[in-house]
Amino acid sequence: MQDEQEDKRNARADFIGYTEADDKESHGEYRCESEYDLIKETKTLAILNILNENKNILELRKKSRPVEKINRRIITLLDDMYETLQEAHGIGLAAPQVGVLRRVAIIEIEEELIEMINPEIIYKDGEQEEIEGCLSLPEKFAETVRPMNVKVVYTNRNGELKEKEGTELLARAFCHEIDHLDGILCFDNARRILSQEELDEMRKDEQEE
Ligand SMILES: [Zn+2]
Repeated sequence: MQDEQEDKRNARADFIGYTEADDKESHGEYRCESEYDLIKETKTLAILNILNENKNILELRKKSRPVEKINRRIITLLDDMYETLQEAHGIGLAAPQVGVLRRVAIIEIEEELIEMINPEIIYKDGEQEEIEGCLSLPEKFAETVRPMNVKVVYTNRNGELKEKEGTELLARAFCHEIDHLDGILCFDNARRILSQEELDEMRKDEQEE
């Protein structure tokens, strides 16, 4: 049952993560009836597999390509990523983490959902040091230095160009998710890597202080 569900999820990711050849075909249309059936059939299974560094490090290292046109696949991708993020109780998720090499990332902080297509950092300043986790790096936490303030531009699902500024956690999330689109993982520039036990220990010490 587990395998069957995983196969369906992978098939759905394959469908969304169309290949270069698809770019030449008409955007927003299903290539054949069976694809339409697949989407219908898996509509209730819109949670995608999150790639994990232990199994999928090569995929996570790939650079994602820009989205040229916002079509139904991209909207489906955004919807699926949101469901996946919610199920995983995460803050952010980038398309390459679900096996789709497109420059798409989502962040949800304080009940605000930010869906970014082709995001770019246009401004950053300040510095902050924090411990960061990643849905693709379970059980591992990175002590990273990030800018305190970050401004990004991106296109939203309606094709509108947006600008958004973030500080602290949101600034970190912008950097973290946009790094994923370039195959960069948070432990790449980490000062040190902590295990779950070390993190628990550290948090406990902090509380006692
Ligand atoms: Zn991550």
